[in-house]
Amino acid sequence: MYFLHLVIKLHLPKIREIIMNKGLFGKILWIDLSNDNIKEEKLPSEVYREYLGGYGLGCKLIFENTSREYDPLGPDAIFGFFPGLFTGTTAPFSGRYMVAGKSPLTKTWGDANSGGTFGPEIKRCGYDAILFKGISEKPKYLLINGDDIALFDASDIWGLDIIEAENKLRNKHGKFIKTAGIGQAGENLSLISGIANDKGRIAARSGLGAVMGSKNLKMLAIKGNMKVDYYDRENFIAHVKSYNSENKIDKPGFFLKRLINVAPRLAKTIRRFHMNTSMSPTVMRQLWRRYGTATGNTVCAETGDSPIKNWSGIGIINYPYSISKAISAVEIEKYKTRDYGCFSCPVQCGAILKVPELNLEETHQPEYETCAAFGGMVLNDDLISIFEINELCNRAAIDTISVGGTVAFAIECFENGIITEEETGGLKLDWGNSKNIVELVKLIIEREGIGNILADGTKKAAEILGKGSERFAIHSLGQEIGMHNPRIFPSLGFSYAFDPTPGKHTNASVDMAIGMRDPATFLKGLKVSKNWDENNKTKAKTQKLINGVTQVINCAGLCMMSNYFGQYPLIELIQSLTGWNYSIKEIVETGLRIQTIRQAFTLREGIEIANNRVNGRIIGNPPDNRGPTKGKTIDYVELYSKVCEEYGWNPKNGYPLIETLEKLNLNFAIEHLYKSQLVIM
Ligand code: SF4
Repeated sequence: MYFLHLVIKLHLPKIREIIMNKGLFGKILWIDLSNDNIKEEKLPSEVYREYLGGYGLGCKLIFENTSREYDPLGPDAIFGFFPGLFTGTTAPFSGRYMVAGKSPLTKTWGDANSGGTFGPEIKRCGYDAILFKGISEKPKYLLINGDDIALFDASDIWGLDIIEAENKLRNKHGKFIKTAGIGQAGENLSLISGIANDKGRIAARSGLGAVMGSKNLKMLAIKGNMKVDYYDRENFIAHVKSYNSENKIDKPGFFLKRLINVAPRLAKTIRRFHMNTSMSPTVMRQLWRRYGTATGNTVCAETGDSPIKNWSGIGIINYPYSISKAISAVEIEKYKTRDYGCFSCPVQCGAILKVPELNLEETHQPEYETCAAFGGMVLNDDLISIFEINELCNRAAIDTISVGGTVAFAIECFENGIITEEETGGLKLDWGNSKNIVELVKLIIEREGIGNILADGTKKAAEILGKGSERFAIHSLGQEIGMHNPRIFPSLGFSYAFDPTPGKHTNASVDMAIGMRDPATFLKGLKVSKNWDENNKTKAKTQKLINGVTQVINCAGLCMMSNYFGQYPLIELIQSLTGWNYSIKEIVETGLRIQTIRQAFTLREGIEIANNRVNGRIIGNPPDNRGPTKGKTIDYVELYSKVCEEYGWNPKNGYPLIETLEKLNLNFAIEHLYKSQLVIM
């Protein structure tokens, strides 16, 4: 019976308080799973202007409420769900939420985000964040239904995958409930597990599914009844309408239609003629709506952007178009039954597929990252196996980038006799053996046999396996690297190595930001140089601007693609939502504050990130002797020191300078970084 499962139930009438900032609720929810304590906390209005929301707010709160070098899987660990500033409004692309906390995978600051419809529902519940601490003795789930907040026994959904658990909670609490939680991977404390919503959209990176699993927290099931207040609703809506009408996806004309039809097939032409892959917003919108991120499957493999054969291969040799075309967006489209997208997104880049070969009536279209991780990385051209792996990983809520990287590592270990057939239970781990790759993914999800060693990613696996296997482990501080090559976008090298959340392709990278877009899509007033001087000074300055905007876009709850499809009215929407007189200068400063607190957190946790080095394969050491990346080696360390100077951080060790911390109103971090004499001045 429904009420027998009730552990604790609070009735917290959410009377809207008059707070200085509109667009926010001014309060967060704390849940202590050790004693079922649930309480609200009001936050001062200036905190929002300084951190906006999302992981910016998350890092400030978690930094202040934890002490250094805590166990990310222990009772003192805090993690939470953070909608962005715009989440819950009608701002285009604003449906995202972030999960954040200390990463058990890298031991650095960890964050990940996801789209869909869960983020806006957090805001509808009247909270700017929901944070968890402590460890529950038994599996639980959190239910917020209007004004009622309760923790329930989750033993009947523990062990279920994301879709099964979501369906069960909907049957119990109503079809309008939105859920986010862990699958089998998070329950098994896999350090590469994530948190999934909307039947398999995942906040995948940083291993935060394991944090949720360590707390015995299976899911959040929420339904709110609140609305966000606007400072100037009319103005806000006018900007949204104007953006949407200027950037709408019209029916393409004759020429554009033909171009979009064949774009994924132009991979060889793009490579041969060194065509610039930076696209006009009009083309970008058409491609994304039609194919999603899978647009890149063939183009990136051919042009050298996708990693091939565990980062040791070359696309045009090991995975040329004649092979990669089997997983092209055009092939995927044949299975599409409908478009799908996040809340308030005018592009809708996702799709739902029907795959009769797998008896799958509905499955999410795999993203480029998944296709690359289980395509060129493992030399696999079996598209159906990629659909199957995508469905398995979505249901188990595990990071496809990390699983793909780990499978590639395992194949190379097998090839070199480090993993034997006996250890794999008879599975032959050959490149491109799709059947066995699917079986290995299942073992990783269930932590069975060799899967138990591989379920925590390549770094941990190499530590256990030994025998020189670390040379095949391609990661940054334990996190597998995103599916984009620094030899194509050089500043990715330093963001993979040195971002406080390392290894992510979504971290700010000046070369990627500039290389993939039409300059017309940059923010109004943002003066971005595209000409670098020899000593990287202008590049470092531009990185500061791009990083500032990236942090603000993320913490506003916007999709990272939001400013690729047309000039986004970021400042105008912040102003009309909150009434703050925001400017480009304040955007860059806010972004720097958020980046600096993430950096300070990582340093406080004992990670000397400036000393981190990535596997030579990523940066072309030694360089390739053929193909688009021939002769290229990236010096990512030199750029980092220049960027540190721009940020006001010590270029030798990446520690934010005291005057920088003071200027950014991060005085609370000074004590942690300096007074405990971590650094000798
Ligand atoms: S572009 Fe795609 S990922 Fe981004 S908000 Fe739209 S549907 Fe979501």
